[in-house]
Amino acid sequence: MRQFTLCLLLVLSTIVSIHAQQPKKLNSSEIYEAVQKLNVLGSVLYIAAHPDDENTRLISYMANHVKARTAYLSLTRGDGGQNLIGPEIRELLGVIRTQELLAARRIDGGEQRFTRANDFGYSKHPDETLQIWDKDKVLSDVVWAIRTFKPDIIINRFDHRRAGRTHGHHTSSALLSLEAFDLSKDPSKYSEQLDLTETWQPKRLFYNTSWWRYGSREAFDKIDKSNMLNFDIGVYYPTKGMSNNEVASLASSQHLCQGFGRLSQRGTQQEYIEFLKGEPLDGTDDVFAGIDTSWNRVKDGEAIGAILNNVENNFNFVNPSTHVPQLIEAYKLLQNLEDDHWKSLKSKEIIEIIEACAGLYIEVSANSPQASPNSLIGLRMEVLNRSDANIELVSYNISTMSEGISKTLNMTANQKLNFLEDVVIPKDFGYTTPYWLNKKNGIGMYHVEKQELIGLPETPRGITVDFNLMVDGTPISINKSVIYRYSQPDKGELYRPFEIIPQVSASISDKVYIFENDQQKEIEVTVKAGKENIEGFVQMAYPNDWNVYPQKQKIQIANKGDIQKVVFTVIPPKNQSEGLITPMVNIDGQFFTKELIEIDYDHIPFQTVLMPSESKVVRLNIDKRGNNIGYINGAGDVVPESLRQIGYNITIIEPEQISPENLSNFDAIVVGIRAYNILDELKFKQKYLLDYVKEGGNLVVQYNTSRGLKTEQLAPYDLKLSRDRVTDEKATVTILNTEHPILNFPNKITTEDFNGWVQERGLYFPNQWAEEFTPLLAMKDSGESSKKGSLLVAKYGKGNYIYTGLSFFREFPAGVSGAYRLFANLLSAGKEEKTQLKN
Ligand SMILES: [Zn+2]
Repeated sequence: MRQFTLCLLLVLSTIVSIHAQQPKKLNSSEIYEAVQKLNVLGSVLYIAAHPDDENTRLISYMANHVKARTAYLSLTRGDGGQNLIGPEIRELLGVIRTQELLAARRIDGGEQRFTRANDFGYSKHPDETLQIWDKDKVLSDVVWAIRTFKPDIIINRFDHRRAGRTHGHHTSSALLSLEAFDLSKDPSKYSEQLDLTETWQPKRLFYNTSWWRYGSREAFDKIDKSNMLNFDIGVYYPTKGMSNNEVASLASSQHLCQGFGRLSQRGTQQEYIEFLKGEPLDGTDDVFAGIDTSWNRVKDGEAIGAILNNVENNFNFVNPSTHVPQLIEAYKLLQNLEDDHWKSLKSKEIIEIIEACAGLYIEVSANSPQASPNSLIGLRMEVLNRSDANIELVSYNISTMSEGISKTLNMTANQKLNFLEDVVIPKDFGYTTPYWLNKKNGIGMYHVEKQELIGLPETPRGITVDFNLMVDGTPISINKSVIYRYSQPDKGELYRPFEIIPQVSASISDKVYIFENDQQKEIEVTVKAGKENIEGFVQMAYPNDWNVYPQKQKIQIANKGDIQKVVFTVIPPKNQSEGLITPMVNIDGQFFTKELIEIDYDHIPFQTVLMPSESKVVRLNIDKRGNNIGYINGAGDVVPESLRQIGYNITIIEPEQISPENLSNFDAIVVGIRAYNILDELKFKQKYLLDYVKEGGNLVVQYNTSRGLKTEQLAPYDLKLSRDRVTDEKATVTILNTEHPILNFPNKITTEDFNGWVQERGLYFPNQWAEEFTPLLAMKDSGESSKKGSLLVAKYGKGNYIYTGLSFFREFPAGVSGAYRLFANLLSAGKEEKTQLKN
């Protein structure tokens, strides 16, 4: 059954992925739906914090049943989470999740918006969230989204009255939405935005509530719902052959990197929204009560509505091109509207409908998927009218050229026109990388300078072409982005966005290099050509007290896309030090310092991301005892690789290999994160691990979650896990027992070793333990009680048992020196006596 489900999912996602990358061409049913939407002048903005927070059932209902213009404003791009489908984390995960949201919106019919807020990881309270985010900037971005999208209705996913009871980002999204609802109409607030848009007052604000907010369905059944509206979000759409909840499941199944692929649902289902603010509903069940969402909403709209309602009511599914003259008539009237907002929105919609009705096929493909500024690219244009509509191609304008190219050709039914143009990409043309990653971000915010870009899901495409047509005697312009189209024997026709990339990029294989002593390391730099015949040299930028040789390495690459590898020797200083190294490629006096990262998954379009090319180098002042470490993998972490970097000999112990004989030779055994949550074998093998300690071994157990443990006997003595965590990575750490060997041997640990930690201190600390345990550290998040369970040590028999919820698995990949020094002490526990004897 499970296999069947997976297969079904793969099939569905393949169907969707082909559509995801290919420019969409509407069939008759879709054109009809677009005409229905054209006749609705109402809009809904749904607000939450992360990709996957959004309720696709309600978004799809608003977009497809109510036919309102609907958007999801996700405050973040979800960079803080985990990736279940590949190696990308942080910023790159944010790029994938942005694309997954766009894929979901292509299915549920919504639009997508963002703010500059960064998903920095788990946050307990909105006070903390809003401090790490720049509250004023995020609020400004929510106001900007409201002023530009101009929603009639706003729906919050989260309850602003639940601070501290869900993720701080969630409650913050609701709080900011509430504030922005009032601020958006005030011209004195964020007035710089008003050069580009106008103030706006949404009509109503709702909260998308649910039974789980009240603990149970029974409890929810009993509450007073006079302040709520409900919708049957299980409505069936004959034009789609799908129920609304089926569409919604398909949309949320796009969140594959979060493991959201799921079965579809059908049948009647109620969704509730609670009225929070704005004009009272006064007993009506219409979210838009008081707003005329027909064409009568706009001045001089009535005549347009008369034409377009006629098209809708008499829609010709067999030959939609018969509607072109009426659509052109409506388009002409639309151009005289005073209301710019509706004029530009509806003009765009109506042009798309005219294009679809006439079966127009207009496409510009480049002869290469990527090109760099100042290089020549061949564009191939295909222009085809697949109907009897009266259309002439007047000219086309390529965005890189100052003048249009005149054609004046009749587009007779089904007679294909092809044109080829060679285009030089201007020297200072911008790269097509995600705009929010152009500048290095802080912990809480992305830096975006241009106000127009803020909130956009993607960087506007680099090169576009305007096709200027005369349709039934009326000029209409259709804009197309350049794409790259190719075929693959095992996949068929494929599409990729056309990308503008630097002439050269460089990367270093690892993001962190740890130097445990003063020995030099060889570091390889890979240089990739973005154009033909690259010639120049690479040099390294490095911290003052470090050294790198040679100074320069020559590079010469003949073909675009080829790589050349060069090796530099990096020499650390004598003392503890850290910094960044950056390869700088010099071509004709110009330096290139970016790394080009490509992200290729079937369910989203191919992504090309430019990031600063840099790696952290860390010279540790570290002492170690014992070299032979056994590691039992849990849910997956890079701790073994990190320990190898500082010279340990790591052996991975498979669960079935845990036996007294196999354990006895190790200086220490480390248990990976959440191993006791996922390894069934530990239920039976725990005895051997504890016996190993009893016989003089050293066992270090990293964090497990309190729920779903495979054994009650985590430790030789009583130890109770809790949900205590310290999420502030800068939280003050107090050393409880300064004399304890673990904090003194072989490295003297001080509070300085807790500087520079990332994301959090630790999680799921025990909150009760037997008296045999010694707690070594205390720490707390602001407003909470001090937690002493982050690092607990106990003697057992001749050995040591250590339990730690400290987030070593996050600190090691970030090259945090103190984490390495402390962990070296954990691994050296019990070795101090022997050393003293030797002395
Ligand atoms: Zn969330």
